[in-house]
Amino acid sequence: VTGSIFADMSKLATACNAINLSQGYPDFRPDENLLVSLETVLRGNNHQYSLPEGAASLRLAIKGMFKTLYGVYANADSEVTITTGATQAIFSSVSGLIHAGDEVIYMSPAFECYAPAITLAGGVPVCIQLQAPDFAIDWDCVEQRVTPRTRMIIVNSPHNPSGRCWTSDDLDALATIAEKYNIIVLSDEVYHNITYFGQSHLTALSHARLRNRTIVVGSLGKTMHVTGWRVGYAIADVALTSELRKVSMFNTYAAPTPLQHAMAEVLESNDSYIGLPELFQRKRDLLLQGLKKSRFRFVATQGTYFQLLDYSEISADTDAEFVQSLALKFGVTALPLSGFGAAYRDSRLIRLCFAKQDQTLLNATQLLSKV
Ligand code: GLN
Repeated sequence: VTGSIFADMSKLATACNAINLSQGYPDFRPDENLLVSLETVLRGNNHQYSLPEGAASLRLAIKGMFKTLYGVYANADSEVTITTGATQAIFSSVSGLIHAGDEVIYMSPAFECYAPAITLAGGVPVCIQLQAPDFAIDWDCVEQRVTPRTRMIIVNSPHNPSGRCWTSDDLDALATIAEKYNIIVLSDEVYHNITYFGQSHLTALSHARLRNRTIVVGSLGKTMHVTGWRVGYAIADVALTSELRKVSMFNTYAAPTPLQHAMAEVLESNDSYIGLPELFQRKRDLLLQGLKKSRFRFVATQGTYFQLLDYSEISADTDAEFVQSLALKFGVTALPLSGFGAAYRDSRLIRLCFAKQDQTLLNATQLLSKV
């Protein structure tokens, strides 16, 4: 492991004084209600440890969100766990549920923490490479990579970085493999609130055959535009939950209490997440409209607040070289696809984050149109 591509690219943005469209976080303020709620909480008495599984009010609010959005019922006491960011939920799930030598299948391009989490737990990462432009999953190929040591499959929808959203056929195929070989599914759904084209997100928890063998990981940082608060969660059947809690409890015991209380109060109202697809679809379209006259090629993303751009008509550089010169010469920072798997260094694809103020997007597209 060399470092975090997200941190490296944000440092590059600062060094070049470039518009930072690399690391995935908003440059706009969170909902005023959330800030007011936090101020009130800070003046109150909730300053000590919460329960290691998280504040009861926040677990109930998350349970409510999954019921409202997906009709999924989860027990807030025994099936919902608050973590220090979604990253800790992923880490705790992998560490708590795999044994040394177990194989874990995941698909790249992949979020950077999957493979280190597997390796640190003594597991063996088994990577399946998805291909541009659609990054579809070939489930026959997945099944071929299953061995008697396969313990877990990590999946991600909406997919970071491509934005691909899985279909009900994908979920059926996943369920069939998971059942046939008795495999645990770790489903990274941190962008579940952000899908486009009127399609709604399918959570793996809504699939009858996956419900009891799946851990769904989510991020309130993403949902509520406060990625620096580091509040995520895991929802899973009681048996899986009790294992992952053994890890999260001793690392880091609990997420920060006041933040959990402030989030619970705001999350209880659906307004805090119902409008997210509309908000981000407008921003995506603003970005793509601004790029129409550029030499970048793209297919509009289906979900997440990320957009892949193909620069093959502009340069033959590797993606890492390209993002460097983009920052230095044009003042915009993007993420190279190779940050999600070294094999993609010659893919000629970069990722932009459009969770930005309209003016930031307009400024960035003007610069990108000169490339
Ligand atoms: N999920 C965010 C992204 O893809 C960043 C997460 C992080 O920096 N840890 O950009």
